[in-house]
Amino acid sequence: MKKNILDLTKEELQQEVSPKFRAQQIFGWIYQKGAKAFEAMSNLPKKLRQELAERFEIAIPKILNVETSRDGSKKYLLGLRDGHTVEAVLLPMKKEEKDAEGNVVKEARYTVCVSSQVGCKVGCEFCLTAKGGFVRNLTPGEIVGQVLAIKQDNDIPANRRVNVVYMGMGEPLDNLENVAKAIKIFADEHGLSISPRRQTISTSGLAPKIEKLGKMDLGVLLAISLHAVDDELREKLMPINKAYNIESVIEAVKRFPIDQRKRVMFEYLMIKDLNDDLKSAKKLVKLLNGIKAKVNLIYFNPYPGSPFQRPDKERVKAFQKYLLDKGVLCTIRESKGLDISAACGQLKERSKEAVDGNPV
Ligand code: SAH
Ligand code: SF4
Repeated sequence: MKKNILDLTKEELQQEVSPKFRAQQIFGWIYQKGAKAFEAMSNLPKKLRQELAERFEIAIPKILNVETSRDGSKKYLLGLRDGHTVEAVLLPMKKEEKDAEGNVVKEARYTVCVSSQVGCKVGCEFCLTAKGGFVRNLTPGEIVGQVLAIKQDNDIPANRRVNVVYMGMGEPLDNLENVAKAIKIFADEHGLSISPRRQTISTSGLAPKIEKLGKMDLGVLLAISLHAVDDELREKLMPINKAYNIESVIEAVKRFPIDQRKRVMFEYLMIKDLNDDLKSAKKLVKLLNGIKAKVNLIYFNPYPGSPFQRPDKERVKAFQKYLLDKGVLCTIRESKGLDISAACGQLKERSKEAVDGNPV
């Protein structure tokens, strides 16, 4: 199989072509002009175009299926070169606004929720992705390609910057090397120009990897899937907690470099009669002491056969009020029993929050 050119950072591509500025041109063709073939890259010498075509492919994931939700979000099923599939979701954040003459005064804003693995090793009790087990890591190009495919499918202008959240299938920090490369490729000024501050990594709490990501100092935002405030319950919900307990995750977050204007998001999945009581809220406030945090409460979204239930609205409201009264930023996200199904679709509300909570 030919190499996928989307897997390369611009620096890596510069090693492959000469002179170096050809790499910028190629990036521009692929990410800004939407070129599907090297032949179309008309300002490159013919010989170079031929050489590139012999060695590389521009392998953008194939759109196999799209489900559109009532609120306008679209869930994509994407096919990879080896036949495996992943999901990604396009979330319209703000609608386009026009003045009386019909001129666009505010552009529409979008977030794309991307997958980082086919399946997941972490095996959380409540997660649909976990049920299928782990298949493989995505390459950097397969991550970047999800955004490229979705932007093109929706005719989102090439220069329109979108936000990216790593909240689809998989645990991004279990594929850190490729995710870090994807972050850089996304950010490239000759490519999609998605600054790391518009990219949010969501993790189940791989403490040493949080530290490693922090040391890389890429400037990305962080979201922690906490879901429980004591180790006993968290172990039951998320087996990863046996390896990295709550304290170790919190300590890693405290050392994580985060932009002064931004916050670390804590996702808290509310499950009926398990973690929706005020005692848990009190513990949560204590845990987050000293962290510039924002909590996002999510209603557990039951799926057929799921062992848990959706909590009562009053309980969620009371939980939120407790946090707010103690000065902890907290929002509630309804997963509206979405009319689009399955894992990544359930995550879309969260993905919105990641970006709303950190205006860029
Ligand atoms: N693996 C990473 C990122 C992908 S999962 C992580 O766990 O953070 C993104 C979010 O979806 C996580 O917060 C996860 O806990 C949540 N999630 C999984 N199953 C869910 C369900 N049935 N209802 C609501 N949220 C769910
Ligand atoms: Fe993996 Fe995240 Fe699902 Fe847990 S919630 S199994 S870490 S994708």
